[in-house]
Amino acid sequence: MGKIYIIDVTNRDGVQTAKLGLSKLEKTMVNLYLNEMGVFQSEFGFPTTRHETHYLRANMRLAQLGVLKPIRLAGWIRAMAEDVEMTFKLVPEIKHLNLSTSTSTQMIEGKYLGKKGKRDVIKMMVEAVDAAKSYRCESIGVNAEDGSRTDLPYLIEFGLAAKEHGATRMRYCDTLGYDNPFTIYETAKALAEKVRLPIELHCHGDLGMAVANSIAGAKGAIDGGQDAYINTTVNGLGERAGNADLVAVILALVKSKGFTDKYQLAIPIDLSKSWKIARFASYAFNQPIPINQPGVGANAFAHASGIHADGVLKDPANYELYGYEELGRGEPHMVETGREICSGQYSGISGFRHIMNEISGAVSITFKDDEEAQRVLELVRYANVAAQKPLVEDELLFIARHPDIARELLTMTPLDYLEEGA
Ligand SMILES: [Zn+2]
Repeated sequence: MGKIYIIDVTNRDGVQTAKLGLSKLEKTMVNLYLNEMGVFQSEFGFPTTRHETHYLRANMRLAQLGVLKPIRLAGWIRAMAEDVEMTFKLVPEIKHLNLSTSTSTQMIEGKYLGKKGKRDVIKMMVEAVDAAKSYRCESIGVNAEDGSRTDLPYLIEFGLAAKEHGATRMRYCDTLGYDNPFTIYETAKALAEKVRLPIELHCHGDLGMAVANSIAGAKGAIDGGQDAYINTTVNGLGERAGNADLVAVILALVKSKGFTDKYQLAIPIDLSKSWKIARFASYAFNQPIPINQPGVGANAFAHASGIHADGVLKDPANYELYGYEELGRGEPHMVETGREICSGQYSGISGFRHIMNEISGAVSITFKDDEEAQRVLELVRYANVAAQKPLVEDELLFIARHPDIARELLTMTPLDYLEEGA
């Protein structure tokens, strides 16, 4: 019986969204929180994009140090051999890749404008898979962009060609959010049966069905005899109307009527980290969590009407499907209403020591000497330049614990490669 894995794509689909973005430290924090939750894989960025190089390499180092473990870090690139070459030139340590290409007639004709056809797309994709294999890439997913507007026989042909060349997973992308739970179920099942590769479901919310489609697609893949991988983003942030929300997908998998009787997560997810990751993403992206967001919205456990309030006070199960404690909610949240010292790009040593002492109440961070404190402060200033807002406690602690990695994350050197002439 196949199982369900979560692949979060906040650091790829989430950050490529119009009007949204994260600093490299914020992306790293997302990876750390996903790892704490037990998420199988983070699609952590774009290996051929130059400003990602230091970030990607620093995160690979965190994986080697056991800080980002057991989560897998996978890069997203175009399914082109030259992109694979560039990936291993810039981030040689990378072990997992997803290779993406458009498969629908609409996109092949609409993007290549007659210069390439369906056969060329498969040829380019298998050349990219071959190249990734030649670098001993441990897992290679192939992405059928706009899969839901692609005819099934071609999708199967595409998947079989990928498999023959050594791809380990096929990503079915409902890029425009066009599927419904019934259609995606049938397609995922057919792909699982015919291609016989694990199927990844990448769903968007243009018709409000990203979460429903994700679990229907997972059921299809498993009924077709394969494992299912669901793509999510924190708070559902992603292109246009967004992606399938991480917390909502997990809740749907583990709490919806009878689903877990047959369809289960391969790795248990620690839902009690939901509140923390959702709040961090909201702060980092500067986007409020919608009041009615499943599990983490301000109203997810709020009751006002007489009948509901009375019912929930007598027994929460009367009007709540799951408890707020399960999501890590319920701790009092302290908001400073008086004097506040926060980090900034022009912070000084005295304010910085004050902030670190306040945090250290719980975790005790001490600096060897003034020089070390000064060095960490300097990194905190740079991190503030990148984020343009005060850092959260976990970011300050991360910098204090891993100053060398923080330094790499904060390094931006565009002139290096311009001088190379590459
Ligand atoms: Zn997408």
